[in-house]
Amino acid sequence: MRSFSKNILLSLALALTVCAQSRPSANAIVKALYVGNEGVLVSHGGKAVLLDGLHREYGPDYLFPPPDLLSAMESAQPPFDQVRVVLVSHIHLDHFHPESVGLHLKNNPKAVLISSAQTMLEVAKNYKDHETVRSQTREYTPEWKQKKQFDIDGIKVTVLGLKHGSDRFWWVKNLGHLVEIGGKKLFQFGDADMTVENFAAFELPKEKIDVAFVPYWYFLSDAGRKLVREQIAAKIYVAVHIPPATAAKEAENLSKLFPGVRSLTTIRQELEF
Ligand SMILES: [Zn+2]
Repeated sequence: MRSFSKNILLSLALALTVCAQSRPSANAIVKALYVGNEGVLVSHGGKAVLLDGLHREYGPDYLFPPPDLLSAMESAQPPFDQVRVVLVSHIHLDHFHPESVGLHLKNNPKAVLISSAQTMLEVAKNYKDHETVRSQTREYTPEWKQKKQFDIDGIKVTVLGLKHGSDRFWWVKNLGHLVEIGGKKLFQFGDADMTVENFAAFELPKEKIDVAFVPYWYFLSDAGRKLVREQIAAKIYVAVHIPPATAAKEAENLSKLFPGVRSLTTIRQELEF
């Protein structure tokens, strides 16, 4: 009798697990495709936003798009032909490559780049055909704690002025992005300094963010986790910027430190929201 009920319990647990894994995602209308480090293609209904996706190999601590993926992004092959907005949080090369951004814009006339004057200057300096893509750029360089909203092809993007982490990068303009697509609100913020003051001015809990892409180090300390909960207050958190060499171990660690967090660790990994 005992083993009988144990068996029933076991099959129940198994059935639940299978259900959870294969449940059709009826509400999952926004997709995120991971392209390395903090790079994601967020898409819905044939339109997409590419955040910090156009970057190249930089250093061993940063996952980068392999040649076939990089080439698909630069030449705007599917699914990157859906891109309407290209966002670059800041000019560090683990988030951005000026020539890759230029090439994507040239090969995808429907795409618009929204970023700071620093990003635009790097594209102008390093991409030979920059004149031909100039009309596809919207420069916005917020002061710290300033923001501005853009509406591109039905996609709303609010750009936030957030300080980059570490004093030695004081000169690097770092942007946060609130992206509204497919009825969902997503948030990504480059390498923003992990301080309450950096986020508080934007009153992000009022934004009712659905998905926040968060550099993994935010989850490693009590202060970081508190900041995430109180200053971002998203429904779903996705850890990014995880060093590839220890990614699997780190993802496991993160799920213990912050139950429910999802981790992006593998090139072309997909999430649905
Ligand atoms: Zn950086």
